[in-house]
Amino acid sequence: MMTKEEAIAIILAHGVAGRRASEVPLSDARGRALAADVSAGSDFPPFDKSTMDGYAVAALDVASPTILPVSGRIVAGMEGAPLQRGTAAKIMTGAPLPPGADAVLPVEDTAMMHGGSHVELRRAVKPWQNVARRGEDFRKGDVVVARGTIMDAPVLALLAMLGRDPVPSFTAPRVCVVPTGDELVPPGDAIVQPGAIYESNGTLLESQLLEVVPSLRVTRVGIARDNRASLNAFFDVGLDHDVLVLSGGVSMGDLDLVGVLLKERGLRVAIEKVSIKPGKPFLFGDVVRTDGHVCTVFGLPGNPVSSCVTMELFVRPWLLARLGSLAPLGATISARLRVDRAIKAIPRTQHVPATLRVGADGATVSPVRWNGSGDLRGLAQANALAVLPMGTVGQDGDVVDVIMLPRRVPLPNLDS
Ligand code: AMP
Ligand code: MG
Repeated sequence: MMTKEEAIAIILAHGVAGRRASEVPLSDARGRALAADVSAGSDFPPFDKSTMDGYAVAALDVASPTILPVSGRIVAGMEGAPLQRGTAAKIMTGAPLPPGADAVLPVEDTAMMHGGSHVELRRAVKPWQNVARRGEDFRKGDVVVARGTIMDAPVLALLAMLGRDPVPSFTAPRVCVVPTGDELVPPGDAIVQPGAIYESNGTLLESQLLEVVPSLRVTRVGIARDNRASLNAFFDVGLDHDVLVLSGGVSMGDLDLVGVLLKERGLRVAIEKVSIKPGKPFLFGDVVRTDGHVCTVFGLPGNPVSSCVTMELFVRPWLLARLGSLAPLGATISARLRVDRAIKAIPRTQHVPATLRVGADGATVSPVRWNGSGDLRGLAQANALAVLPMGTVGQDGDVVDVIMLPRRVPLPNLDS
């Protein structure tokens, strides 16, 4: 059986190999990575600009407090007339400094006189005080955002500030999510058959994918049943996509046909089992059609928590690598484990749903009440997964790695 680290290495290499770039509208780029360096088309700021509401002056005229005639008014978005020496011009934040001026005295340090014809400047100013110089943030031609940067809010805004739309982005794969199982009933329907349960992995996996990239195209086409005809019909549709994410049917049960049937369709298996808990049965590979179309296939275990964890551990980094991210794995956090009873060692890497708290004396992580891989409620109450390497006991006080669950934040540590 493969280790988690071996599996991740294979998955990342596969994701990188599948990258394609294209221009996408800025509004669709959220969460994706830039496919090329973006450099500035002009200096920024593009002109010397006032950082305050106040009066533009020549600093030499205001070497000490003084009174000057007011010769004009400049607002953001206009170009002021040249400033005559010995005068001051009223200026607003963001407005270009008029030629001849080299400093701004904030309005708080001034007083209007004679109905506004003159102004009392109550402090001395130095050259370039309260002025953002042209090009001080970056210069024309500078690389401002590097290839591989994930386009989150500030990066998207920076691209907008550079006037860029569309932007070079790695193409997002089209994903099809297919839960499998005879027992599954779509939420909203009535359960009539004994032994039936509601289908939750479709919602889970689609939501997790959209958390990575909101503009990802995720298709759901219903629930496949545990027989040849049904699975093959769903594979016909699913394999048409760039990625097929299946849940269930990949373990050792009599009706676990997913792997068998995919192999009949030419699945090149790269990973079949990974020594992690939860989530041991895990299928990864691709199907190359005769017309050349390649579909990457993830077969996730059916238990909801296993599905969620394998999505986090494997599908998410694959997607981020495919999308060009420079850091598809993100950072792991270290925290001190808090347990009443030690967590037993097993020959697999354990991922324990837990609460990460951060306080003045560092981070602690305590497992939530959790009944195993079917207990989605336990997971929903966690903000992190505590990681115990293969063969490691988890004792109270041990320092362990922690994976933050996306969109969850560390909680304050009430003890510290
Ligand atoms: P499987 O991997 O198909 O053997 O499923 C393992 C367990 O997960 C079984 O108890 C299934 O009923 C449950 N399960 C499988 N798929 C889903 C799903 N889509 N939604 C909720 N539970 C599921
Ligand atoms: Mg099943």
